[in-house]
Amino acid sequence: YADLAMYQAKAEGRNTLRFYSSDLERTSANNISLEADILRAVSQEQFVLHYQPKVDLETGSIVGAEALLRWNRPGFGITSPNIFIDIAEETGLINEIGAWVLNEACTQAAAWQNLGCGPLQIAVNLSPVQFFRQDIVQLVAEALRATGLRPECLELELTEGSLLKDVERTRLTLQKLKQLGVKIAIDDFGVGYSSLSYLKNFAVDTLKIDRSFIFNLADGTRDEAIVRAIISLAESLGLKVVAEGVETDLQLGCLLNHPCDEAQGYLFSRPVPAEKFSALMIERPQYLLPKQRMQLRKA
Ligand code: C2E
Ligand code: MG
Ligand code: MG
Ligand code: MG
Repeated sequence: YADLAMYQAKAEGRNTLRFYSSDLERTSANNISLEADILRAVSQEQFVLHYQPKVDLETGSIVGAEALLRWNRPGFGITSPNIFIDIAEETGLINEIGAWVLNEACTQAAAWQNLGCGPLQIAVNLSPVQFFRQDIVQLVAEALRATGLRPECLELELTEGSLLKDVERTRLTLQKLKQLGVKIAIDDFGVGYSSLSYLKNFAVDTLKIDRSFIFNLADGTRDEAIVRAIISLAESLGLKVVAEGVETDLQLGCLLNHPCDEAQGYLFSRPVPAEKFSALMIERPQYLLPKQRMQLRKA
C-alpha cells in the first residue's frame, strides 16, 4: 500500500505539475500570440486614435482633446489599451506604437487647426519606457516639425510613477521638452508614489486629478477635501488643473465650486473617432455648464 500511495502521490504530483505547466504554456502562448498580433498591428495599421474633449469650466468650450489609443484587432474588435499596453511595454513594441501615436495625434491636431477649429491642445500619453528612451526629445521635435503643429498645442501626459523612476534623467528630459515649447501634464495625479518634491524640481504645467477622486465627489466628502487641496496646490504653483472621469452633474457641480480649469469625462463625451470629434466641434462648440443653464432658464 505504501508503494501504491507513493505511486499515486507521484502521479498526482506529475499530473499537477503537468496541469500547471500546460496552464503556463497556455498563458505564455496567449502572450506570444498577442505579441505577434501587436507586431503585425503596427505594420498593418490596425491602431487608431480616439479623442476625448477637454472642456474649459469657465466657458464650457472644448479647448483640447486627449488622444487615446485603440486597437482594431482582427477577430476581437476594438481593444482597449489596458489589454495590450503592458505587453507592448515589456516587449519594447511601445516605442514603435508610441511614435505612431505621437505623429498621428500631431497630424490630426494640425489638421483641425488648419480647418479653423481654433486653438486646440492635443494631449498624448507617454509610456515610461518611451520617456526614458534616448531619442524622445528628437522624436517630439520631429513630430512637431513634420506636422507644423505649434509646440504649445502639444501636451505630453506622464504618470507620477514614471517620473520618479530616475529623477535626474527625468529632470533633464523634461527640461529639454520644455525648451521645445511643449506642455507637460502629470496624469492620474494623487494615486502614484506621490512625492510632492518633484513638483518643486520638475518643469510641469498641468495636474490631472485622478478619476478615483472624482468618482464619489460630492459636497462635504473626503474626496472633495482632497480635490480642493489638489486644486489649491495647483493654483499656488501656477499650474493648470484638469479633472478626469467626470460622469455626472453632481460631480461637475461640486467641481464648479472650486477654481478647476478643465474637465474631461463621459458627461461631456466619451473618446470618439476623429471624424466624430470634428462633428462634435462643429455641432456643439461649447457645453452649457449648470450656471449658464440657470441663466438661460431665468431669461
Ligand atoms: P488615462 O491616460 O488616464 O486616460 C483616461 C482613461 O479614462 C481612458 O481610458 C478614458 O477612456 C477613460 N475615461 C475618460 N472619461 C471617463 C469617465 O467619465 N469615466 C470612466 N470610467 N472612464 C473615463 P482608456 O482609453 O481605456 O485608456 C486607459 C489608459 O491607457 C490611459 O489612461 C493611458 O494610461 C493608457 N493609454 C491610452 N492611450 C495611450 C497611448 O497612446 N500611449 C500610452 N503609452 N498609453 C495610453
Ligand atoms: Mg492620460
Ligand atoms: Mg488619467
Ligand atoms: Mg488612468
